[in-house]
Amino acid sequence: MPVETIKYANKEVTVVWKPNTCIHSTLCWKGLLNVFNPREKPWIKMDGADTEKIIDQVKKCPSGALSYYLNSEVPADET
Ligand code: SF4
Repeated sequence: MPVETIKYANKEVTVVWKPNTCIHSTLCWKGLLNVFNPREKPWIKMDGADTEKIIDQVKKCPSGALSYYLNSEVPADET
């Protein structure tokens, strides 16, 4: 069964979230609430911070549920 993924994008970067992988460590939203806020829908708001801050926070996700790619470098499986 393919892993479910949900994508959130701004002009520069796309954040990929895998809800089945998320361990709800709370790390992402405690670090950058303007972007990652599980009380709101959509829970990731790509206009809440600049691209650099979003990428830094994505890298802190301990489970690998959050990942990202630059829109200028679309992954091979997206083509
Ligand atoms: S940091 Fe990663 S594992 Fe933790 S709540 Fe956020 S997405 Fe889920």
